[in-house]
Amino acid sequence: MTNHNSPMTDTARGRCTLVGAGPGDPELLTLKAIKAIAKADLLLIDDLVSQAIIDMAPPSARVIHVGKRGGCKSTPQDFIQKLIISAVQDRQNVVRLKGGDPFIFGRGGEEVEALKAEGIMVEVINGITAGLAAISSLNVSLTHRDHAHGVIFITGHNQKGIQVIDWKELAQTAHRARLTLIIYMGVSSVYKLQSELLFGLPAHTPVAIIENASLPNQRHAISKLEKLSATIERENLRSPSIIVVGDVLTGLKEIGLPAILAA
Ligand code: SAH
Repeated sequence: MTNHNSPMTDTARGRCTLVGAGPGDPELLTLKAIKAIAKADLLLIDDLVSQAIIDMAPPSARVIHVGKRGGCKSTPQDFIQKLIISAVQDRQNVVRLKGGDPFIFGRGGEEVEALKAEGIMVEVINGITAGLAAISSLNVSLTHRDHAHGVIFITGHNQKGIQVIDWKELAQTAHRARLTLIIYMGVSSVYKLQSELLFGLPAHTPVAIIENASLPNQRHAISKLEKLSATIERENLRSPSIIVVGDVLTGLKEIGLPAILAA
């Protein structure tokens, strides 16, 4: 039951911590995240959280996977929220582990709102978002002052089939204002993204696709906007991948990084 009048407390009823698990490499976890995981009674885990991170929980902790991969449908958001609420009310220490940062395309905001409505205080621990890990792995500065004035983190995935982003306009803005685009969940709709971005950005704008950033099986390719979807297809790059578009990638080949596939 919603109770807006009672003071929020995390001692009387257990607690919930929303933890960013980072892009995959367990060494990129924050100390706060490690401490929170080590104290968990219940761990609710999204896709893309490494097993090595889950193993940091005490052996007595209950671990529930609520992600989409592994052949199952994703657990409905509503169900996850109810599970957290009942565990907290049962005085458990709940850790909600999300890939990357909980507040970057992680639906963390919805969970915080639902818990707040029940008078449950949530602590949020940041994680390194995949886009930052991806670009850093190429030694590229997202806001190199010779090339960009800012960054846009954006999803390539339309919510329930609704087209919400005007990519043509976005491309024009990015070009005019010199902004780097960091596209999450863009691989499956890349053909459309490419053709619409070409309305505002030059065909030769450099792009990079980084698959499994920070993990031992990371792969990446660099190319030009006009060849983005062809490169993804040719190299068979798949989700989870980050697509970076912008002049900050200029000169990447000259840096001489290993394993870069140039198109
Ligand atoms: N909250 C997460 C993003 C969740 S959305 C974060 O902050 O990183 C899921 C998308 O994130 C994937 O489709 C992919 O685009 C991206 N992603 C997550 N982990 C990734 C990784 N290790 N390498 C590349 N992309 C990744």
